Amino acid sequence: MPDLYTSISRNPVGKMVTKKLGLPQPATLRRGRELPAGDIVLGTVGSGDIAARTLSLLGLNVTEALQDSSATDGSGELPAYDQKIGAIVLDATTARDLDDLEQVRALLRPALKAMGPSGRVIVIGVAPHKLTSVQGSAVCQALEGIVRSVGKEMRAGGTANLVQVADSSPAGIASTLEFLLMGRSAYVSGQPIRIGSDRHAQAPTTPAFADKIVVVTGASRGIGESIASVFARDGAHVVLVDVPAAGDALAKAANSLGGTALQLDITTPDAGRAIAAHVASRFGEDARIHAVVHNAGITRDRLLANTDAARWGSVLDVNLTAALRINDALLDPWVPGGLADGGRIISVASTSGIAGNRGQANYAASKAGVIGAVRALAPHLGDRRITVNAVAPGFIETEMTAKIPAATREFARRFNSVQQGGKPVDVGETIAYFADPASSSITGQVLRVCGQSQIGR
Ligand code: NAD
Repeated sequence: MPDLYTSISRNPVGKMVTKKLGLPQPATLRRGRELPAGDIVLGTVGSGDIAARTLSLLGLNVTEALQDSSATDGSGELPAYDQKIGAIVLDATTARDLDDLEQVRALLRPALKAMGPSGRVIVIGVAPHKLTSVQGSAVCQALEGIVRSVGKEMRAGGTANLVQVADSSPAGIASTLEFLLMGRSAYVSGQPIRIGSDRHAQAPTTPAFADKIVVVTGASRGIGESIASVFARDGAHVVLVDVPAAGDALAKAANSLGGTALQLDITTPDAGRAIAAHVASRFGEDARIHAVVHNAGITRDRLLANTDAARWGSVLDVNLTAALRINDALLDPWVPGGLADGGRIISVASTSGIAGNRGQANYAASKAGVIGAVRALAPHLGDRRITVNAVAPGFIETEMTAKIPAATREFARRFNSVQQGGKPVDVGETIAYFADPASSSITGQVLRVCGQSQIGR
């Protein structure tokens, strides 16, 4: 369903009228691997150097933030930038004192005034639970409040996100910083991303998935097809799975991406074995899956008062039970074609699973269940260096959301910081970020891909 309002608001007359009426002005978002157009500015609160080392590891040129307030007009504020900037990366990893928060404000203020289109604010702090001091934890948690608010204040398609480090290395943070700076994170804003420690972490390489096998369920259309195409773009052999009824579309998608199609209803009890058998027969007995993406999903919306067992059960079966059963099968180290050590499991949850949604108790149960399963499974797979994460999309323009009544759909499109629906590729890019071999320090996370929707936390 095309977003008519966005098209109208971007033509010259429509722009003038909508501006005059104070209506939303959805910007064209920078997408793909493109970096910000202007300078990447590096600011430091305290003495941390992990941001500088990570940006240098990524080979990115940075401009030091204006830190010296002595050269100002007497207001005590830092001077203004003399040209538009593309991003500010603020290293606040040593911020422990409440007074440090004033420095965060002072550094962000001129940067926000100079921020170009699709700009980026990335604050790096320490995960509050890692600190024993009450003041230190309060300061680190305050950074989240700042970032969530700045995300809502960004204009022209900009985003603001917080990276929370533990005893992470620059290599462990690099894939996150790269993702957040690039257009790949166009629809991710106001989010904290927690990075753990991994002494084996390696910096990102391109293409990220050369010679790697990636399985995507529900891949014949919509978000699944887009996930598959992002992985194919980045060098993966993709196995596209969908129900036999979607066979033609599935074959078409697989052919266009140079992947393989597997017609399979994932609710069949031996679906996991069938996926592994397909991988082993197609790529050889020793082949292992690098990443499995549980994307297939359905909705059967009704108020709970009107939901019968069939409506309830079918949604839970596809969205939750099937994925858990497939994990069990693929995690068996003795199954040919199973998940590799160092592999990735990524599930597609939903903001409905975080905030709940009227008429979607079954769907929200399944998606909240996905989040619970991800958090519970992640710590058990550290020994095998397998990471488990979830994305929680908000409103994404697909056939699923085209079925939503027009007024509700329009509300969902505008009720987020970038004032537009996301594209399937936004979900695909975020999943590929989790699946990146360089994202080995990130596990048990749920990242919303919702343009900072105002719904839920
Ligand atoms: P979609 O309906 O366009 O595509 C879902 C795909 O899953 C279809 O190709 C379908 O055939 C397949 N599928 C369904 N049941 C299956 C089964 N038993 N076995 C194998 N394949 C099966 O939906 P979409 O909008 O692309 O959504 C993809 C995922 O993203 C779903 O998990 C959905 O819940 C989630 N999601 C979507 C949105 C959104 O705004 N579109 C928001 C939040 C979450």
